[in-house]
Amino acid sequence: MTDGPILRRWLSWVHGFVPAQLRRDPVTRRRSQLALGILGANLIVGSALLIPLAMIREHDLRAIALVNTCVCLLLMLLGVLFLRRGSLWLTGNWICAILYAGFVFATWTGGGVRAPFTVCLALLPMLAGIIAGRRSGLAWGCISVATLTAVFAAQARGVELPEVTHPETTVLLAFGALAGTTILLTWMTAFSEATKEAAIVQIEQASAQLAAAIQEEEKARHAADQAIAANAAKSAFLATMSHELRTPLNAILGYSELVVDELRDRGGGNEDLIDDIRKVHASGRHLLGLITDVLDLTRIEASRLELSPTDFEPARLLREVAEIFIPLALRNNDVLTLDLGDDTGPVHHDATRVRQVVINLVGNAIKFTRDGTVTVRLRGDPDKFEVFVEDTGIGIPIDKIERIFEPFTQVDASSTRRYEGTGLGLAVCRRLVSLMGGAIEVRSSVGRGSSFTVRLPRRYTIPEHTASVTTSAF
Ligand code: ADP
Repeated sequence: MTDGPILRRWLSWVHGFVPAQLRRDPVTRRRSQLALGILGANLIVGSALLIPLAMIREHDLRAIALVNTCVCLLLMLLGVLFLRRGSLWLTGNWICAILYAGFVFATWTGGGVRAPFTVCLALLPMLAGIIAGRRSGLAWGCISVATLTAVFAAQARGVELPEVTHPETTVLLAFGALAGTTILLTWMTAFSEATKEAAIVQIEQASAQLAAAIQEEEKARHAADQAIAANAAKSAFLATMSHELRTPLNAILGYSELVVDELRDRGGGNEDLIDDIRKVHASGRHLLGLITDVLDLTRIEASRLELSPTDFEPARLLREVAEIFIPLALRNNDVLTLDLGDDTGPVHHDATRVRQVVINLVGNAIKFTRDGTVTVRLRGDPDKFEVFVEDTGIGIPIDKIERIFEPFTQVDASSTRRYEGTGLGLAVCRRLVSLMGGAIEVRSSVGRGSSFTVRLPRRYTIPEHTASVTTSAF
């Protein structure tokens, strides 16, 4: 085995002492490692010192030195415990407190301000500042200066200090104190540099991430701008196209009606031709309905649909709609019932748009009901009014119920489907009702029928900002 892996293993073992919460960022990790290093170095040096200290000849001095070192070792072990608990502040101040006690003792017994250990007091503010933070560093700076001043004042006033240190030992201690201080200072300087470099790397990484995020945001904003522009262009295109298509289509419808009338006037023999022209007329009407729905949807999505509210009686509107559908209901052998309840009184809304919604719902109800019942109900209270359109038709599967409000969505979209339609009616209805400040609800059961409810406030109030309508592609 080479030295490399052993050293790495040893380092990772030491690194394992630093708890996870102190390993999150490189600066805290380094501060923790410094604290651990100082504790470890003190434990190793202190343990090693026990041997020469045990050989000191003077009994008193030996006893003091041994007790002092053992207590220091125990206190250092406690520091490791604080670090394990994740408090750098406590660990840093604890280390400084132990060292302070040791240095003060050594200063006091080593000749006061002349003692070699006085220089070590200068280390405490730096150590505390790095490990426990700037405030701790400042506090320890004050403590060190105050202690030196106190010892100096005591000596100046002639206080007798105990001179327990032998001259030979003093030289040894002076060497130890100076060498230790130099090593610690070198270590802390190297540490500060490394921490500064790590912090710079961290800042560089963060600013690179920030630059990338800003770039991404710009890209997203650009894409959003493009999407908005494309949507506006699409809406403008559809609005123009729909308008351009409607004009000739209306002409086709008008002329086909005229031709049918004329052929009828000319008398018999033209039945096949009349039938064909009626098909042209029916297809034209279908296309016109589709174009009108597309135009409505486009206007709503582009927030360009303006409502023109007036006062009107919803009961009257429902009666008119029901009259329109009587022939269709008869053709499907449906019973069309109108239940207007108590007269709900006038409401303030865009009557054309309310009529459009009701026509759509009643049209669907009759279209999807054969030999059944379609009921149109009106209910109201002082705040709102509700229109219920209920049928006993084919119903809608539960998993398709929400999707029927999406544009061009039909429950049966197969090419062989029995029911005509574009799949746009309900999409327009939901958006219109939401624009009018209301909601549409649907309940349905396959084979038993469906019930649509339109709930609207009695008075339409122009929203402060344009109502947001779900925009889905079509
Ligand atoms: P369409 O023009 O196809 O009727 P709509 O948006 O009005 O378009 O309706 C979407 C689909 O919802 C219909 O194709 C149909 O499958 C279903 N649907 C709507 N109303 C009813 C109803 N009363 N009964 C059964 N299915 C319905």
